[in-house]
Amino acid sequence: MMLDYNSLLLALGFSATCLMVTLLGTWVSRRTDSFLLTLVVALFFIVIGIFVYSSYTLEAGFLRASFAYTFLMIGFSMIYAASLQFRTGRTPWKRSIILSVATIVPGLPLISGGLDGLGFIFMNAATALLLIGTGWQYWRARAEAPGPLAGMVFLYVLSGISFALCAAVLIQKRQWVLGHAPDNWAEDLNIAICIAGMSGIGALSLALHQWRLAARHRHEANTDALTGLLNRRALFDHVAGRPVGSRTAVVVFDIDRFKSINDEHGHATGDAVIRIFAEELTTGTGGQQTVARLGGEEFAVILANILPGRAERVAGDIARSFAAREIRIGEAVLRCTVSAGIAFGTQETDSFDAVLSLADAALYQAKRNGRNRVEMADFLHRVETVETRTNVSP
Ligand code: GH3
Ligand code: MG
Ligand code: MG
Repeated sequence: MMLDYNSLLLALGFSATCLMVTLLGTWVSRRTDSFLLTLVVALFFIVIGIFVYSSYTLEAGFLRASFAYTFLMIGFSMIYAASLQFRTGRTPWKRSIILSVATIVPGLPLISGGLDGLGFIFMNAATALLLIGTGWQYWRARAEAPGPLAGMVFLYVLSGISFALCAAVLIQKRQWVLGHAPDNWAEDLNIAICIAGMSGIGALSLALHQWRLAARHRHEANTDALTGLLNRRALFDHVAGRPVGSRTAVVVFDIDRFKSINDEHGHATGDAVIRIFAEELTTGTGGQQTVARLGGEEFAVILANILPGRAERVAGDIARSFAAREIRIGEAVLRCTVSAGIAFGTQETDSFDAVLSLADAALYQAKRNGRNRVEMADFLHRVETVETRTNVSP
C-alpha cells in the first residue's frame, strides 16, 4: 500500500516529536551540551509547523499556510543556530531571532497576500540555505568527531538539496499562485528524505553528545585539576613504550621547602605557589613540550630534540624566573625557589622510567647541594659523580 503525502507528513511529525522528547531527556540528564536544548526548541517549532502544514494540505487556507510557514522558518533558523552553537559555544537565541525575522518578513506577506506559490518558493529556498548552512557549520567542526560529523553534514546537505529542488520545480512550472499545497515529484522526494534524514540526524546528534562527554571525561582523567597540566598517569601514558633517545631530556622539578610554605602561610597559599610554578613551566618550555605535575610540588618536563647545554639553560631559566616571582599574601611578599634534575637517554632502548629515576637522583643531588639549583645526571648514568653545573642563586 502506497502512503499518501499527508500520512507521510504525519509520520514525519510524530517521528520529530519522538526525537524531540529523546533529545530533551538526554539534555535534562546531563545539561552539559546546550546545543541539544536548542535542537529541542527547534524541533518544537518544526513539529507544530509540520502538523499545521499537514492540516493545510487537507484544507487549504492562507491562515494555516501562514502559521505553518512561520513555525517552520523559526524551527529551521534555530536548527542553524544550534549548529553554530555546537561549533562556537555561542548562545543561539539572538541569531535565531535575526534569522527567523529575515526569513519570515519577506515570505509571509506573499503567502498571506495570495502569492502563495511565490511564498512556498521563498520558504523552500530559505530552508535549503539554512540546512546547507547547518551542514557547513558541522563541516567546519569536523575535526572534533570526524565520523558522526561527516554523517551530519551529508544528511543536512541532502535535505537542503531536496528543499532546493522543491523551489526549483515551482519556479520551472511558474506556479506563483497555487491556492493549495504544492504537489509534485520534488515534494514526494523531499518528504522521503526528511523522514530518513530526521532519524539519522537524531541518532548522530546523540552520538555527538556521547562523543563530547567521553572526550571531556578523557580530558579530566588526564589533567591535573590544580594546574591544568598533564597528570602523572597521562605522562606515563604519553611515553608508554617509547624509548628515550640521547637527544631527549627528562627534567624533574621540586619546589624547595614547600612544606614550610604550607605550614607558615596555609594550604591555599601552597596551592597558589604550585599554580604559579606551573605557569612558569608552561611559559619556560614554550608550550610545545610535554609538561606534567607528578604530584605534590613535583613536576616533570620532557624536552625533545635538545642538547644537554640547552636543556640546562631551559631548566635554569625556569628556576630563575620562578625565584624572581613575588607572590603576594596580604601585605607580605613571598619568594620561592625550585631545584631540578636532568637526565638524558643514552641509547634508543632507555626506558622512560629509567631516565626519570636518573633525573630524580640528580634532583636529590641538587637538594643535597643546597637547593635552588639544577643538576645533570652524567652520561654514564652515575649521578654521584655529577658536579654542580648551574647554580641559579643570584
Ligand atoms: P624539599 O626542599 O626537600 O623539597 O622540601 P619540601 O618541604 O618541599 O618537601 P616535602 O616533599 O617534604 O614536602 C612536600 C609537601 O607538599 C608535603 C605536602 O603536604 C605538600 N603537598 C602535597 N600536595 C599538595 C597540594 O596539592 N597542595 C599543597 N598546598 N600542598 C601539597
Ligand atoms: Mg617533594
Ligand atoms: Mg619540595
